[in-house]
Order: sequence, then C-alpha cells, then structure tokens
Amino acid sequence: LVRLRSRLSRSQTSLGKGLLSLLSREHLDEDTWEEIEDTLLTADVGVAPTQELVDRLRTRVKVLGTRTPDELRGLLREELLALIGTDTDRTLRTARHTAEDGTARPAVVMVVGVNGTGKTTTTGKLARVLVADGRSVVLGAADTFRAAAADQLQTWGERVGARTVRGPEAGDPASVAFDAVKEGIAEGADTVLVDTAGRLHTKTGLMDELGKVKRVVEKHGPVDEVLLVLDATTGQNGLVQARVFSEVVSITGIVLTKLDGTAKGGIVIAVQRELGVPVKLIGLGEGADDLAPFEPEAFVDALLG
Ligand code: GDP
Repeated sequence: LVRLRSRLSRSQTSLGKGLLSLLSREHLDEDTWEEIEDTLLTADVGVAPTQELVDRLRTRVKVLGTRTPDELRGLLREELLALIGTDTDRTLRTARHTAEDGTARPAVVMVVGVNGTGKTTTTGKLARVLVADGRSVVLGAADTFRAAAADQLQTWGERVGARTVRGPEAGDPASVAFDAVKEGIAEGADTVLVDTAGRLHTKTGLMDELGKVKRVVEKHGPVDEVLLVLDATTGQNGLVQARVFSEVVSITGIVLTKLDGTAKGGIVIAVQRELGVPVKLIGLGEGADDLAPFEPEAFVDALLG
C-alpha cells in the first residue's frame, strides 16, 4: 500500500486529499459543492459518475451533520468503492484449461490498444508475473508494423524466460498470432500472450486487422482474454479510443497504464462506466515490477492517503 500510495501520489494530492479537504469545510455551500464537482471532473471521474457521487455525498453529509475527519474519510471511501465496484470479477483467465474437445490448451490473451499506450511493456510485465508464478508463457509479436516492437517484446521474453514467436517485418500480424498460439499448444504452454498493432489512423483498417487477428487465432479455439491497454494520462481521448476498440473486438478487461504519471486517477471510474468492462490491471511505472492487479480497496485507500 505504501508503494501504491507513492505511485499514485499525484492523484492522491489532487483527488483524494482535495476532496477530503473540501468536505471538511465548516460550511458546505453551493460554491464548495461546485469545487467538489470540479475536482472530480478534473480527475477524469466522468460527468455521470461525478453527478451521482456528488448527489450521494450531499445527502449523506446532511444526515451526518457534524463531521469528523475519520467519518468523512469513511464516507468517501464507501462511496468511491460503490462507484468502482467491489464485487466485480477481475480475475485474469491465464491458466491452461481443457477445451470442449477434451484436449488441454493454453489460455490465449490478446493485448490490444493504441501504439504508445504501453501495450508491449504490459505484455512483457504480464509475462514476468506469470513466469514468476511458475507458468510457461509464449509471446506472440503480432505488432509487425512498429519496427522495434518485436525486438522490444523479444527482449522482455529473454529477460523473463518466455519464448517469442515473431514473423518477418511488416508481415501479416494474424499469421504471427496464429503461429504463436500453435507454438503454445505444441509446447504445452500455460499461456500465450499476443501483442497486437494499434494503428488508429482509420477505424476500418483497425477493424479489419484486429478482427482478423482474433478470427485467425480462434481457429485454435476461443480467445480467453482481450485486454485493452489505455494510457491514463490521455483522459477523454483515451475513452474515445476505448469506445472504438470495443466496437471492433469484445474487450474482457482494461489495463490502465501510467497511473504513476497523472493526477487523473478518476479515469478508472469513467472507463469502467464507459465500457462496462472491469479494470483488471494497472501500470504504475516503466519497471518490470510495475504492473499490479487492480484492487479497488487498495486503490481507494491509496487515493485517500
Ligand atoms: P506500445 O506502443 O503500446 O507497445 O507502448 P510501449 O509498451 O512501447 O510503451 C510506451 C512507453 O510507455 C514506454 O516508454 C514505456 O516504458 C512507457 N510505459 C508503459 N507503461 C507505463 C506505466 O505504467 N508507467 C509509466 N510511467 N510508463 C509506462
């Protein structure tokens, strides 16, 4: 929690502490409620969730009357957790399992998102977590458009002990993805992680490409997870991207990266609301250990300091 706090320090200062200090004012007049609303909007909580939260807080603060700092903290904690959702299933399906035809097969995880959001880094970090947990992992370098992406992924693979399947430069991403899963099956791997290209210049181009990758991979069996990687620092723009991707492939989980570099931690709430898909992982830095499962309680506690 200490580490999470230090990594989320920017969101903590502006969102957590900001709200607590506003709510502690002796007179909660209209101006103060407006400031509370602004604080939430600035932290990218999103319009509808902000309105809901402010309404709930107004009602509850009125009932409470005098407020001690602890009471306020408890109340805010409860309301933020209610917005984020504490009983949502956030497990990652990464374990080897038995297919319908009775054969065992690796879990297949596709990692999608716009270039620069941290897709390749996230794929590498996830491989590391899985390998550290005793799983065998095969990486598929299906981002064949960014010249350095396959090298970057392979470097991660070598570092963590996962084999990387790659194709020729500018080759067909779907065929690399297909080969990676084939290799994973042949090797008896636990998990195949497929890094994909995220060129968003045209929506139809992306649709064709990602859709094709998924369809081709599905020739081996169903895809277990499609993780959408979003850069938390991109705010509303990230939400627009999220919408486009979710129209192309059905997303099973969100990875929010770069939460260490932003005061906009409220994006966790907005993006779940926007897509109806849970945040499953968060990126808290560039290092190999900087990927964490998203745990609402720990997150809110870190925000509130
Ligand atoms: P891709 O194009 O989506 O595959 O993006 P990359 O994986 O190459 O990442 C782009 C940049 O973001 C790199 O410099 C990464 O080190 C950095 N990055 C990725 N995740 C995080 C994170 O959680 N926090 C920070 N601060 N940087 C990150």
